[in-house]
Amino acid sequence: MKAAVNKIISFSNVDGPGNRCSIFFQSCPFRCLYCHNPETINMCVNCGECVKTCPVQALQMVDGKVVWDKKLCVECDTCIKTCKHLASPRISWMSVEDVVEHIKSIKPFIRGITVSGGECMNHADFLLELFKETKKLGLTCLIDSNGYYDFEDYPELMAVCDGVMLDVKAISDDFHYFVTEQHNAMVLKNLRTLLAMHKLEEVRTVVLPGYEDENTKTVTGVSEIIKSECRYKLLKYRYFGVRDAGVKIFGESIVSHDELVRCQKICEEHGCSTSVII
Ligand code: SF4
Ligand code: SF4
Repeated sequence: MKAAVNKIISFSNVDGPGNRCSIFFQSCPFRCLYCHNPETINMCVNCGECVKTCPVQALQMVDGKVVWDKKLCVECDTCIKTCKHLASPRISWMSVEDVVEHIKSIKPFIRGITVSGGECMNHADFLLELFKETKKLGLTCLIDSNGYYDFEDYPELMAVCDGVMLDVKAISDDFHYFVTEQHNAMVLKNLRTLLAMHKLEEVRTVVLPGYEDENTKTVTGVSEIIKSECRYKLLKYRYFGVRDAGVKIFGESIVSHDELVRCQKICEEHGCSTSVII
């Protein structure tokens, strides 16, 4: 079994508690307008456009498929900017053994691993085997998810998973659909289910500029559900890396600190004392 891995960050301190190895899987069922890694959304369709723009010939078409030479690549991101399909040619097809070998090489320096994306739950079978092997090393395993899949359908995976970091993009279904092109009923079901299972590591909401009413509705709704039972991260909207369609709507700006503080106060007023601004 192999999975499409977009990248591995060996040491991260923003993807859960302690120093963690973050593994980013390719593909996602959401189309978030403000996604910072839009090149992780789709699988490459091998159109070949990026091959022509690579300045160091690190990309080639071989038998109709784009092949990436990691050693030649200078990580200039020209291919990512060229791609019109929200994909990347810089994908590694890795087995569980490949990933575990990397984890073993950095084991003394990390507390655990976090799987992210894209939407890592697109690769749930792979995650189950990866987590089983990682637990044998005495490391913790966290899932960073947009909540598209029903976690109740994955009891084996949940048994070896230490927690889920869940994105709640919006409490209003209409606004959630506008931002992600998907409805939010399953996300909200997962919010409640994971809380009841004591598997909710943290909840995250991106606070958006110019959408104060939606920010209010979302942080109020989430706070009322989670109270102070898990950390609630209020993330700043930043335009860096966001695709043109998102920048057109949310602007070339960063949400103001005042708006974040206003949202944090709403959390406190609704019983959530664990909110943090990131
Ligand atoms: S990032 Fe893409 S365009 Fe730049 S060198 Fe690597 S493969 Fe080529
Ligand atoms: S990464 Fe994008 S531009 Fe490059 S071959 Fe794949 S689909 Fe085409």
